[in-house]
Amino acid sequence: MKFEFAQRVKNLPPYLFAAIDKMKQEALAKGVDLIDLSIGDPDLPTPGHIVDAMKKAVEKSVHHRYPSYEGMLSYREAVADWYRARFNVSLDPRTEVLSLIGSKEGIGHIPLAFVNPGDVVLVPSPGYPVYPVATLFAGGESYIMPLLDANNFLPDFSAIPEDVLKKARLMFINYPNNPTSAVTGRGFYEDVIRIARKYDIIVCHDAAYSEIYYDGKRPMSFMEVDGAGEVGIEFHSLSKTYNMTGWRIGFAVGHRDVIAGLGKIKTNLDSGVFQAIQEAAIVALGTGDDILSGIRNTYQARRDALYTGLKSLGLHVIKPEATFYLWTKVPSSCDSSSFVSHILEKAGVLATPGNGFGSPGEGYVRFALTVPVERIKEAVERIRKAL
Ligand SMILES: *Cc1c(COP(=O)(O)O)cnc(C)c1O
Repeated sequence: MKFEFAQRVKNLPPYLFAAIDKMKQEALAKGVDLIDLSIGDPDLPTPGHIVDAMKKAVEKSVHHRYPSYEGMLSYREAVADWYRARFNVSLDPRTEVLSLIGSKEGIGHIPLAFVNPGDVVLVPSPGYPVYPVATLFAGGESYIMPLLDANNFLPDFSAIPEDVLKKARLMFINYPNNPTSAVTGRGFYEDVIRIARKYDIIVCHDAAYSEIYYDGKRPMSFMEVDGAGEVGIEFHSLSKTYNMTGWRIGFAVGHRDVIAGLGKIKTNLDSGVFQAIQEAAIVALGTGDDILSGIRNTYQARRDALYTGLKSLGLHVIKPEATFYLWTKVPSSCDSSSFVSHILEKAGVLATPGNGFGSPGEGYVRFALTVPVERIKEAVERIRKAL
């Protein structure tokens, strides 16, 4: 028998990394000593005290049953405590906090709760590919907000036509930003809240990188700004902060109706997060600053090595204040894909082409800081010879 995919699957955008994946596999098959700077996944292990908490929790048979849909109250309380300590924001753990199977899960599901076919969703580009795909699955239409260097990689709301804003139901924003590494602050969030209020738009702020910052400059939460809790929610992840990408746990906080809507979708589709993981996550959220600054210092040393190295090659590169990405302009003689193929072939270094994050990312590549300093230095020297 032959089966056809549903229209929503046929409508998925082409997978722009497919060509790169193929080249990577070919290089590995040839035995190339590949330095892979394309991966947005920490190479560092989960801190030991979190792993130990998991070992203990997994032994408890109470955790072997179905968890509660919205997350254990103790986990939601730990999230609320963390928010108070980190951002001085008060949240009701019962109504304003929801556990997620990774923040990707919540981002992927939120349009199903609020977007009707034909509704517009405002989507930043270049950006996390889940925003437009989740919109597509809900039958919505993505309106691309380009993130350009000239605008500090912030969306320009004045460029969005009035009729689009009127049809917009939801807006995704993401700072510190993947892939551009841009950070922002109160003034921008106030603009977001003003637009959201005027046009009844639900704001979904993705704060996956709020704890990966440098030089002691701690990014703020959208929720810290007056009025944010009335217009939207914030997604968080334990993945990047505690090197827990494989564990699949995150959370959403904010407006109780938005949280409830997302909860309704989840109640009907999944059965929550394994409670042993939630117990370990409670321990993770209590991690001392010594361990977290250790992780940040590791990335900062890598950032400094790669930033200095790429600059010495004459490349235009943005020095990140947060995230583990370097958003780098390719030389004017090439485009994103040809630059990536060139350094893969000639230097055995893999980067991610910027256009894979949306067409406004054309002309850039993203380097991730997920390999040790020595390998970063080696990568720079190899690229130097290849250029
Ligand atoms: C990594 C990442 C996430 C998702 O992380 P989870 O592991 O699903 O919690 C969300 N948004 C951005 C921008 C990311 O880079």
